[in-house]
Amino acid sequence: MIAELICVGTELLMGQVLNTNAHFIAKELAPSGVDMYHQIVVGDNPKRLTEAVETALSRADVVLLSGGLGPTDDDLTKETVAKALGKELVLFDDEWEKLKYWFSSRGRAIAPNNKKQAMFPADAIILENPNGTAPGCIMEADGKAAVLMPGPPRELMPMFKNLVLPWLLEKAGHRLYSREIRIFGMGESDVTYRLDELIKHQTNPTIAPYAKTGEVTLRVTARCRDDAEGEALVLPVIETIRATLGDVVYDTNGRELAEVCHHALIESGRTLAVSESCTGGRLADAFINYPGSSAYFIEGDVTYSNDAKMRRLGVRKETLDTVGAVSEECAREMAEGTRKAANTDYALSTTGYAGPDGGEPDKPVGTVFIALASEDGTIVKRLNLFGDRDRIRHAAMLNALDLLRRNICTK
Ligand code: AMP
Ligand code: MG
Repeated sequence: MIAELICVGTELLMGQVLNTNAHFIAKELAPSGVDMYHQIVVGDNPKRLTEAVETALSRADVVLLSGGLGPTDDDLTKETVAKALGKELVLFDDEWEKLKYWFSSRGRAIAPNNKKQAMFPADAIILENPNGTAPGCIMEADGKAAVLMPGPPRELMPMFKNLVLPWLLEKAGHRLYSREIRIFGMGESDVTYRLDELIKHQTNPTIAPYAKTGEVTLRVTARCRDDAEGEALVLPVIETIRATLGDVVYDTNGRELAEVCHHALIESGRTLAVSESCTGGRLADAFINYPGSSAYFIEGDVTYSNDAKMRRLGVRKETLDTVGAVSEECAREMAEGTRKAANTDYALSTTGYAGPDGGEPDKPVGTVFIALASEDGTIVKRLNLFGDRDRIRHAAMLNALDLLRRNICTK
């Protein structure tokens, strides 16, 4: 199926407004299997818009239009497209009532020219617009269709995603199936560099990367007839990604790092306690966030002061006096002391400089030590994190989760 996009608005031609709707629609359409070979931008002019619609209808099955659905005289998309398709506009009473209610519930008077926003061809499919006054619509004629959407991106984007794309997929006999691959411990540019060939040459499924603090997600989306076919298309790609990136891939079902740890702990039947300095409770919160964590989570101590580290966890005074609280030794003693005090299988600890002030010449802000104590001994990792206080604390928490994940899931 071929679609063509017409963005209507003189402001787009004049460069007053960036055509973000074209970018959004093109990006959303790419994995859907609906082809788009042309895009047109045309001003608010009935003659030129008619030409654009006729041109688009001559080479596409579906013409997508954005803009020109407002109440003013220069909003003429609906009238022009209806005319090109040989259709008359009639008042839709329920849409008119909804429009009147929209205004009255906001204490605003409705102008007579708003009435045209409730007018459509009698056989049109109405696209509700919960974010504005102008509904969109679909007009079909002679096996072709025109899909009209409002110009404001905050109205168009949800309408396209929730109503138009499903309609297009249905019409094309396609659906989309996707899986989310979650990655920790490798930056987005490194991930995309290693998968460059795969990403470049993939048409079905497509691979879309996106990053948030410390993590990268790859969404693998297949165009398919049903979920079984989708899964069959997606699976080999997931396996290739996993083989290429290795154990930085921690999940292929879109789960959070904490969620993966949560399930691994429940399955293993083992228990956990945490002691936190710079993460200040975030690590405990990450687990307790999930219902059922009482099966394994025994306790969390926020031992922020040196005194608390000694008194509650048995960190040695000598350690604090010689190498300090932000040290490999302190992280180790915190984790081991916690494991002993809480009598758990695992204990995690964090201690570091979250900034903005503090740090030492050889341990600047962002230096964080994390440790995992278990029956196999204690693993300590030094992290060199960057960013503001919040980011450093968040990344420290994620790294501690990842340390646990790597050592619990591989067993
Ligand atoms: P309209 O529906 O034509 O009255 O457009 C309303 C507003 O939506 C315009 O003033 C623009 O700010 C915005 N808009 C219209 N078309 C686009 C587009 N293609 N991309 C981004 N914004 C747009
Ligand atoms: Mg306009």
